[in-house]
Amino acid sequence: MARVAVVTGGTRGIGEAISLALKEQGRTVIANYAGNDERAREFSERTGITTMKWDVGDHEACLEHCSRITEDHGHIQIVVNNAGITRDGTLAKMSFDDWNEVMRVNLGGCFNMAKACFPGMREAKWGRIVNIGSINGQAGQYGQVNYAAAKSGIHGFTKALAQEGARFGITVNAIAPGYIDTDMVAAVPDEVLTKIVAKIPVGRLGHAEEIARGVAFLTSEDAGFVTGSTMSLNGGQHMY
Ligand code: NDP
Repeated sequence: MARVAVVTGGTRGIGEAISLALKEQGRTVIANYAGNDERAREFSERTGITTMKWDVGDHEACLEHCSRITEDHGHIQIVVNNAGITRDGTLAKMSFDDWNEVMRVNLGGCFNMAKACFPGMREAKWGRIVNIGSINGQAGQYGQVNYAAAKSGIHGFTKALAQEGARFGITVNAIAPGYIDTDMVAAVPDEVLTKIVAKIPVGRLGHAEEIARGVAFLTSEDAGFVTGSTMSLNGGQHMY
């Protein structure tokens, strides 16, 4: 039977490419999203992938929806924690709400989804968790103390949970994308983006499909010996 995969924020941007790559691998994919119903409907009609709306920062909502997915499709054995938001600003301008919201969604979402799915993976003695971090969690970024802290936290979370999962056949890895041509990056002002691209050795932004291929490998049957690692997919912008 096809393994069941949940991709958070799986209906557009990097998440959309991940959902499609996992479907191509023969997984039963559920693509979660937060509120863009029109986009989710269009995505589902085009791809045949089931979509489900809930807020990954909401602990109870994650437990409830994952339990419903398990009832309908079987244990969730692959989780890709991809949903993420930005609320940028220098420390002087960043509100406490901006800080909390980014931590709640970007880092809290990983905890909530792991809590919901880890027991089923343990029972199945097989699981794959991939957390989408960021180059800005590795290197920091001006105007992003909230986002950089949350993404950096994801890398620590990954290494700690990998140690808990290893003896149950559960691998936990992270991918740290560089700048990828999605809506999130479209929000960056042109003059800032030009400066960013100038610092990328390969001379261009990345494509969502390039991140999805990394996820497809880390969630594959072949990747059982890879755990606690961070795959940096950034065009050489940050070598670590
Ligand atoms: P987008 O903004 O294009 O898409 C974000 C997705 O996450 C959407 O599907 C959105 O749903 C969903 N989402 C947002 N908040 C929540 C929430 N609370 N609960 C559930 N789903 C939510 O993002 P990208 O594709 O650019 O980024 C994907 C991931 O990659 C993020 O974690 C981001 O931080 C990371 N990343 C991106 C980089 C880039 O250059 N683009 C670089 C490094 C990391 P909806 O459609 O309903 O709004």
